[in-house]
Amino acid sequence: MEQIDTRTIQALDAAHYLHPFTDHAALAASGARVMVRGDGIWLWDSEGNRILDAMSGLWCVNIGYGRQRMSEAVYQQMQTLPFYNSFFNTTNVPAVMLAAKLVELAPPGFNRVFFTNSGSEANDTIVRMVRRYWELMEQPERHIFISRNNAYHGSTIAGVSLGGMAGMHAQGGPLLPGIVHIDQPSYLEHGQGMTEDEFGVVAAGWLEERIKTVGPHNVAAFIGEPVQGAGGVIIPPASYWPEIGRICKKYGILLVADEVICGFGRLGAWFGSERMGIAPDLIAFAKGVTSGYIPLGGVLVGERVGDVLTARGGDFNHGFTYSGHPVACAAALENIRIIEEEALVARVAEDTGPYLGAAFEALRQHRLVGHADSFGFVAGLNLVRSKGANVHAHEVFDGDLGVGMLCRAHMFDAGIIMRAVGDRMIIAPPLVMTRDDIDEMIGRITLALDNTVAELQAKGMLP
Ligand SMILES: *Cc1c(COP(=O)(O)O)cnc(C)c1O
Repeated sequence: MEQIDTRTIQALDAAHYLHPFTDHAALAASGARVMVRGDGIWLWDSEGNRILDAMSGLWCVNIGYGRQRMSEAVYQQMQTLPFYNSFFNTTNVPAVMLAAKLVELAPPGFNRVFFTNSGSEANDTIVRMVRRYWELMEQPERHIFISRNNAYHGSTIAGVSLGGMAGMHAQGGPLLPGIVHIDQPSYLEHGQGMTEDEFGVVAAGWLEERIKTVGPHNVAAFIGEPVQGAGGVIIPPASYWPEIGRICKKYGILLVADEVICGFGRLGAWFGSERMGIAPDLIAFAKGVTSGYIPLGGVLVGERVGDVLTARGGDFNHGFTYSGHPVACAAALENIRIIEEEALVARVAEDTGPYLGAAFEALRQHRLVGHADSFGFVAGLNLVRSKGANVHAHEVFDGDLGVGMLCRAHMFDAGIIMRAVGDRMIIAPPLVMTRDDIDEMIGRITLALDNTVAELQAKGMLP
C-alpha cells in the first residue's frame, strides 16, 4: 500500500475539508484520524492501528468492508452504462431490477419505489409526496407532520425540521413550518412508575393528544424511526408501535417509517417495521441498501399513496439527476444478493442478534453500566455513577462531565469504535459479525469500561 503521511493529510484536512457535525477549531487542534482501509469488521488508520468497527461506518456497512463482489458489480456497470437519467420517459435496467427486488422484500402492499441519493433526500421526498397526496385527495389543509423529539431524519432543511435534535434546531432557523414534535418513547427518561408496556401505550397517547390540539383535519402524517438510532438507540416498548398505528388509522393520517437505519437486516428483518408491528404507508431507506459502498436512498411507496399519485394529477414535479443511478442500483442489487446468500437477516434474528443481546445484558454486571439493551444488531448501555434498585433509581453523572466522550476515547484506545450519545454508549455492528467477533467486541468494550472507571477514580469523579 502507498505510504500515507498522516501529518500532511491532517494539515490539508484542517485547512480545506469541512466535516459534517464537527467543531473545526477542536478538530484542527487534535488532528483527524485518517482511515485508510477496511476489511470485514476491521478498519485500519494511517498509523497502522487496527480497529473493530462496531458502528458499521455510520450504521451502514451491513455486509462489512472489502467485499470484492461489490467492486466487480460496480465496475461492470460503469463499463456498460455509467449513467443515464430516468426523466423524459427513459429508464435503466439496474434501477428497474432494484425497484422490483425492493418491492419483493418490502412488507405487503408496497408496489413502488422512488430513488434518491441519501436518507435526507428520501425524507425530503416524503414531505413533498405526502403534501402532493393530500392535494390530490382534495384535503390540502392536511399539511402538518408530527414527529418526535430527539428523532433523526437527516440534515436537509426538511430532514432537520422533521428531526427533533435540539442542537440542530438551535442553528440556522427558521425551520420548515407545519412540523410539530411529541416526546420520544424512552422508558428510561419518561417511564418511571410504569411497566414498559404501560409506558408504551402512554407514549403513543401523546400522539393522539397532539392530533387533537392541532386539529385532526390538519394532520398529514406521523413519522418515526422504528428504533431511534442517532438519538441513542431508543428501543420502544412492544406496545408502542401497534398503538401508534391504531391512532393513525383512527384519524386517517399517513404513517411513515424512517427505516434508514432499521432496514436491510439491522433489526433482524428486511424492514424493522415487521418486527415492531408497524404497518406504514411510506418507508424511507438509505444506508444499508448499498451497505454504504455507493450513496443511494429512496422511498418505498405503499398502495394508498402510490395508487393516487400514479392515477391522478399528471406529473409529480419532483426528482433528482441521480434518481435511479445505474451504478448505485447495481451496488444495491449486489449488496442484497450478498445479504440473501449469507442469510444475514435470519442470522441476526435467530443467532447472532440474541447472542449479542445476552452479552449486552451481562454487561449490566459492570459497575459503570446502569442499563444495557439491544434489538437485533443495535445495542446501547448507560454509564451511571451508582446503581439503584431499578433503572429509574440509578445515580447518573452530571452531563457537563462528558463521561460518555471520555469513555469513547477509551474505546478507541481499546481498538473499538463505539459512539457516545450523552452518557449512553451505542453500537450498530456489521451484520456479518460472528459469535467469536461478538466475544472479541465485548472483551474490548469491557476493557474500555474498566479503563474509564480507572480514569474517573483518578480524577475523583467516582469513589
Ligand atoms: C442517517 C439517517 C438519515 C439521513 O440519511 P443521510 O444519507 O445521511 O442523508 C435519515 N434518517 C435516519 C433514521 C438516519 O439514521
